[in-house]
Amino acid sequence: MNIILLGPPGAGKGTQAKILERKYGMIQLSTGDMLRAAVAAGTPLGRKVKELMDSGGLVSDDIMISLIGERISQPDCARGCILDGFPRTTAQAEALDKMLAERGLKIDHVIEMKVDEDALVKRITGRYTCAKCGEGYHDEFKRPKKEGVCDVCGSTEFVRRPDDNPETVKARLAAYREQTAPILPFYREKGILRTVDGMASMEEVSRQIEAVLNGN
Ligand code: ADP
Ligand code: ADP
Ligand code: ZN
Repeated sequence: MNIILLGPPGAGKGTQAKILERKYGMIQLSTGDMLRAAVAAGTPLGRKVKELMDSGGLVSDDIMISLIGERISQPDCARGCILDGFPRTTAQAEALDKMLAERGLKIDHVIEMKVDEDALVKRITGRYTCAKCGEGYHDEFKRPKKEGVCDVCGSTEFVRRPDDNPETVKARLAAYREQTAPILPFYREKGILRTVDGMASMEEVSRQIEAVLNGN
């Protein structure tokens, strides 16, 4: 099964993708993570996109489509993938359909995660992750069980994203409203779009997503 988690920055896509990965062995494909890895490694792609990401703009469709196209061809994706952060434009959504069809695959569910803008700003500015395993945390909503120690891997090093600041958040929310939200009708018409209440607790959101995956 292949699914898309669609929602504004901070909606909880990464959080839910990791839960699904653990529970069902599906693979999380986060284009944001892929780009950040390229930036950290200083590859030509990373050098090209760094400034744009720091300002909260979207990377070009050509770059994103070829990045996800390569990834989707890897054999591990046959286990089912969770697209997190892709597609973000109508052109990306159309290209994705084509790429999947060429491989005899399709998107089974598109799950829209709805969250108020005020809550998004709070979620993004309080977000941090484990530097070693990538587990996500929040200053207020998800603190490690033992202060300063990652629940999953025991690491004591954490990182914050340079673009998770109040100024850049505004640009990212505007990009979502203007470029990403318009792809919702594309999936609604196909009859595969479902909406979950992203304002609910992480556990409740997870239950709502599972209900969709189980066809309820
Ligand atoms: P996205 O991948 O959509 O940008 P994340 O999954 O990284 O969002 O979540 C953003 C921040 O909000 C993280 O710090 C995460 O711990 C927190 N968060 C995620 N889901 C919820 C929720 N349902 N309620 C409260 N905080 C949440
Ligand atoms: P969030 O879920 O918090 O918005 P992501 O980690 O998904 O953030 O993305 C971080 C940044 O990477 C975006 O602001 C954008 O610059 C770039 N990016 C990620 N995915 C895409 C995409 N599909 N198309 C264009 N730009 C992207
Ligand atoms: Zn960790």
